[in-house]
Amino acid sequence: MGDPREKIFREAAETLAARRNAVALTGAGVSVESGIPMFRGTQGMWEKYDPMEYATIGAFLRDPEKVWEMLSEMVEVLSRAVPNPAHFGLAEMGKRGLLRSIITQNVDGLHQAAGSQRVIEFHGSAGELICLSCWNRYSSREKIRDGIPPRCECGRILKPNLVLFGEQIPWKAQEDAESEAETCSVLLVIGTSAQVAPACDIPRLSKKKGAAIIEINPEETPLTRTITDLYIPENAGPAISRLLEGIRDFPPPS
Ligand code: NAD
Ligand code: ZN
Repeated sequence: MGDPREKIFREAAETLAARRNAVALTGAGVSVESGIPMFRGTQGMWEKYDPMEYATIGAFLRDPEKVWEMLSEMVEVLSRAVPNPAHFGLAEMGKRGLLRSIITQNVDGLHQAAGSQRVIEFHGSAGELICLSCWNRYSSREKIRDGIPPRCECGRILKPNLVLFGEQIPWKAQEDAESEAETCSVLLVIGTSAQVAPACDIPRLSKKKGAAIIEINPEETPLTRTITDLYIPENAGPAISRLLEGIRDFPPPS
């Protein structure tokens, strides 16, 4: 008996190679192999910090110093993380003209660090800090060196430029993500539980317009048995590396 997943990888590689117009939607799962834990689950941030107390815009406005207890831990983990084979593999797909863009829910900047050119940060970025009084922006790395909580030159405690619960998705990211989702011919959904709205609505936009949905996740999600066409039940790094290998067997269409 051969590898039972051989067929699914072959089909996925063939679809990507033939259609050549893929977009990826990524979530916390792509960065797990970089040592960034998911927020949910027994090892997650939300076990220690109740998200309603630490991760809403209301909580930040009420008591930013308290919210920075959680944020400082997050910033510390993010500052040590480097891209893994999943990030590098997706960047390679971009270079080979197979992947047009990445819509990411992650705030860690690792797709860009791996060399991906077009990355839509749906939930913003932890790499930047913003002042809610004067809208000054700062690089997190530099500002945090001066101490936590970091402050604007006006004195106000800065907020990471990422989307807390209760905040709107930045309109440009929302618009770009929708347009990418509606015009791709393959959507690769990788490492997302597809439970956080409105990001979880993106795959349906692609599906409606006729895109093939390829899902990579060791666990099934609400998408798996509803709109996913090809489900690869594996970790992102090895799965993407294997897909890239497989694509070599299918020459670009002439
Ligand atoms: P989630 O935590 O809800 O789901 C993560 C998914 O990844 C799960 O379905 C899990 O089965 C899967 N997974 C675990 N290990 C994997 C691996 N090695 N390869 C592939 N998949 C794997 O994540 P979400 O859907 O992105 O939603 C969580 C929210 O929390 C997002 O808004 C995100 O911004 C934020 N978040 C960001 C980071 C980050 O920036 N790295 C980390 C944690 C949470
Ligand atoms: Zn300010």
